[in-house]
Amino acid sequence: MKILLQFPEGLKQKALEHAVMLEKEGNEIFISASPTFGACDLAIDEAKNIGAEKLIHFGHAEFHKVDFNVEYIDYRYDAPMDKLPESLRFLDKFKTIGLMTTIQHIHQLDDVKKFYEDNGKKVIIGKPYGFAKKTGQILGCDIGSAASIDREVEALVYFGGGLFHPLGALLHTKKPFLLVEPFNNTVEFLDRYRDIYARKSRGRVIASLDVKKVGILVSTKNGQHNMSLAKVLKSKLEKEGISTGILVANTFDFESINNMMEFDAFVNTACPRIAVDDTDRTIKPLLSANEIMEVIKLRNERKELRKITSNHNQ
Ligand code: SF4
Repeated sequence: MKILLQFPEGLKQKALEHAVMLEKEGNEIFISASPTFGACDLAIDEAKNIGAEKLIHFGHAEFHKVDFNVEYIDYRYDAPMDKLPESLRFLDKFKTIGLMTTIQHIHQLDDVKKFYEDNGKKVIIGKPYGFAKKTGQILGCDIGSAASIDREVEALVYFGGGLFHPLGALLHTKKPFLLVEPFNNTVEFLDRYRDIYARKSRGRVIASLDVKKVGILVSTKNGQHNMSLAKVLKSKLEKEGISTGILVANTFDFESINNMMEFDAFVNTACPRIAVDDTDRTIKPLLSANEIMEVIKLRNERKELRKITSNHNQ
């Protein structure tokens, strides 16, 4: 069978090993060299272009149904659990905690839960909204496993590597949020980031109050494509007298975006994390859909205020 293999960045180093194995089984194997961000980003067009009958996507669970033969091979990894005892010191005053992780460590969640229960905690594990599939799993764009239990718990604990995943959950919850990072031996509360990101978001909104031309980013990736949202935003912005252009790409290159100097701001409809993590990569403000709606609201309030002031002065 003719097969295209696709690996996320962290697993690309294993590509040849898998290709050789599958070739030995009699398959004709190709490896996608494009950047890969998640199962929202399947290399279906590449597979079709080379006439592959199947795409094997490594490292992520299924995101949503697609009209192509895709096999998902999740990548599970045993993270060391030796930071858990230290985390108890941080959780001292909390009786009920919520627990979450990524797909790579989801098989360890029961053991982590048991550890906290054995140490006197009540542990609640939430359910994702739908893009993530396993109880307690979070994705950069599916923080349901945290947000759904935010009211019931006194603190939230993320067990796993990196900041990308916990950051999304942190920004959609209110409770103290502890990172237990087993790979770089970090145990710390991340709550300070809520303020930092809220201030940055406010800054982008304020900086966009006088925009005249807005570029709306639409991705062609299978799980990030949202043309209907782009069209709704386009119509709302144009009603306000703001010109818009819908900018289409598979992966957005911020250098190219920065070359589009006629736009005063950009609005993201692709991976929601672009308007959180990549905002420092554009010269002009890069806003989320909610942020541009806030811009419209503030512009209208400002118009009203000006009307009242001018009536008052007459
Ligand atoms: S956070 Fe973005 S890159 Fe990750 S799965 Fe969601 S849409 Fe894809």
